[in-house]
Amino acid sequence: MKALVYRGPGQVSLEERPRPVPGAGEVLLEVEACGVCGTDLRIFRGEAPAATGVILGHEFGGRVRGMGPGVAGIRPGQRVAVNPNLSCGTCRPCREGRPHLCRSLAAYGVDRDGGFAPWAVVAAPQVYPVGEDLPVGAVALVEPLSCALHGLELAGVRPGDSVLLLGAGPMGLLLLLLARARGAAWIVVADPREERRRLARQRGADLAVDPEAEPPGEFDVALEASGSPAALGAALRAVAPGGTVLVFGVGPRGASWAVEPYELYRREIRLQGAFTNPFTTARAVKLLEQLGSPLADFLAHPLGAAELPEFLRDPPSRVLKAVVYWRTAG
Ligand SMILES: [Zn+2]
Ligand SMILES: [Zn+2]
Repeated sequence: MKALVYRGPGQVSLEERPRPVPGAGEVLLEVEACGVCGTDLRIFRGEAPAATGVILGHEFGGRVRGMGPGVAGIRPGQRVAVNPNLSCGTCRPCREGRPHLCRSLAAYGVDRDGGFAPWAVVAAPQVYPVGEDLPVGAVALVEPLSCALHGLELAGVRPGDSVLLLGAGPMGLLLLLLARARGAAWIVVADPREERRRLARQRGADLAVDPEAEPPGEFDVALEASGSPAALGAALRAVAPGGTVLVFGVGPRGASWAVEPYELYRREIRLQGAFTNPFTTARAVKLLEQLGSPLADFLAHPLGAAELPEFLRDPPSRVLKAVVYWRTAG
């Protein structure tokens, strides 16, 4: 099979690899679709670590075509989405029910071979059945949506809340959708790109503004989904007393932004990070089964496997979410 292999910062290649064989407790997947994530771009640029020689791609799903010994509850032919994040089960965060904070966290597509290949092997507990009606591209949206779900729940958006969302990338737009679904009454989106502001309005934002202009009003919750350290400052200024700022966007490592402790204290502001997707994958599947088709059509931009290296080198800004379709149906 041809697979997209990481060879170090700035280097990826489509290489011939043998079809993987599932070991004990593992399933073989015929990959259906795999999305390109901001993390893949950061890996390519050397800003996030990955194992040299690994097959990239962590937002994927497909059909079970084989299994090793000791797999129960999954049948051949079943269509599944993959939770790529692997926790050790024995460290303290794992034992306390926070596997996403595992001290030896690993992931398919980062530390182990992932979904930018027509075949992949994953541990059985990592797969989640998806319905036959789910559109092909939507299977690649399960992982990003599961992360957005976790973030939104940590932010604690309540019905009637006013919400400021900074950054209208694919993750920001998923957060917008979920904030609406949770009953937020007033949602303002800030993004410097006019095209993204237009999309945000189209997807239910009450107002979309340029972040250069201070957003009007006070917000119960500010969702930082741009990854810009300066946006954290804007979020802290915009949030109402007693409000929450969610740090969801991935900022550059080592970058910082000054925070005034007095302001956090006096206005009782909660500063909350959000990392990956603990226990949200099954619900992300259910949501996508409901919303899948229009959402996939809107977000997913089909990309050929051969175009992947060039895409990672120079991703066009008009593409919201690139998804490689390894199979079209069946
Ligand atoms: Zn991702
Ligand atoms: Zn652990």
